Amino acid sequence: MSINLWKEAQQLFAGGVNSPVRALVKPYPFYTSKGEGPFLITEDGKKIVDYVLGYGPLILGHSPEKVRNKIMEQVQKGWLYGTPSRIEVELAKKIIFHIPSAQKIRFVNSGTEATMNAIRLVRGFTGREKIIKFNGNYHGAHDYGLIEAGSAVSEYGITISKGIPKDIVKTVLLCEYNDLTCVEKYLKEENVAGVIMEPVMGNYGVIPPKTDFIKGIRELTSAFGTLLIFDEVITGFRLGLSGAQGMFGVVPDVTTLGKIIGGGLPIGAIAGRREIMDSITPAGEVFNAGTFNANPLSMAAGLATIEELEHTNAYEISNEAAKVISQEVDQMMKIDHVTHRVGSMMQFFLGVKEVKNATEAKKANKSLYLNLHEQLLKEGVFIPPSQLETIFTSASHSQNVINFTIDKFRKVLREIKNDKGSS
Ligand SMILES: *Cc1c(COP(=O)(O)O)cnc(C)c1O
Repeated sequence: MSINLWKEAQQLFAGGVNSPVRALVKPYPFYTSKGEGPFLITEDGKKIVDYVLGYGPLILGHSPEKVRNKIMEQVQKGWLYGTPSRIEVELAKKIIFHIPSAQKIRFVNSGTEATMNAIRLVRGFTGREKIIKFNGNYHGAHDYGLIEAGSAVSEYGITISKGIPKDIVKTVLLCEYNDLTCVEKYLKEENVAGVIMEPVMGNYGVIPPKTDFIKGIRELTSAFGTLLIFDEVITGFRLGLSGAQGMFGVVPDVTTLGKIIGGGLPIGAIAGRREIMDSITPAGEVFNAGTFNANPLSMAAGLATIEELEHTNAYEISNEAAKVISQEVDQMMKIDHVTHRVGSMMQFFLGVKEVKNATEAKKANKSLYLNLHEQLLKEGVFIPPSQLETIFTSASHSQNVINFTIDKFRKVLREIKNDKGSS
């Protein structure tokens, strides 16, 4: 039973979990024994439709056959060599073919490692120290990223994680998302090495960039000799094979990837223009290394996943699922709310009328959303346990599953409305 495991876990792990968002699930975290297509099977024997999908990587759903087979095939041949292997060359070629800004790539083990190294890279390449980041953008759990860093930080009522030296905080300049004036001001006043941004915000609910904002940042950074980093750890291979940069037609200098490119196994990657990437060791003097970098299992899962994305209608199915659900739910919601969807990413901000940045997203009604999460979970539909995470769909979300989901939303929203009266 989940409850028994959860009781034990609270003695074993800080807050009972190994990554904080998992503890937010109401009324307590359920324990998964199996993932299958769009479903999670729990230790309590329940079958739940999953819209969290590992917080982003599982664009094909759980345990898709092609990916599973490729992993099994690799397992037969060993899973760690400490030498280069053919499969890392194959995955690199695919990513470089698809991602417009990628001429060279370095594989690491998580999105956190990718952005940490990308920030070091732009500093090393430009010889400058300051970084501009955006309020509510999440770039992983390292010191430079953890300043006003999305749900991961703000859910716990903190803006900057404890334990980060003040001198490090000073090197990160904060702007509000969709505020180009702020970026321009800092670029003029300070010697900025790089701007790091999520090209679509996916860690504070879903917040799309305004066109003149994302295009404007490209023009401004070029003008000031500042490098532009797109953190596409979520959006890379989710918003299409060429990521958000393909979708918006804006090419950054450096791109960080993760999640989908590992097909559900741990991965991260830094990619970019050749001369910038050649600053990384052993070609250059910006240090990066890793025991598990380009490990064959992650390479295999990533390769099989991208091949599926290339050769099936996975994007059509997952985008359509998100489109139908977001439209239906948007219409049935009677309270003030904002519905955002980009491709197969969506979120509903409850109790607000406009959301273009983190400050506005923060005003959304957190407890009402949590109530929605909890009631849906009882009905067998798992949406993230935070207003500030993203609801994802996958290629395994069939018409039946979508209809089931919409019915449950209808039922639960009716009850929530009755609970609260009409507002
Ligand atoms: C998830 C995420 C990260 C961190 O990746 P991990 O693999 O969890 O370390 C970084 N940036 C963005 C945009 C993410 O969504």
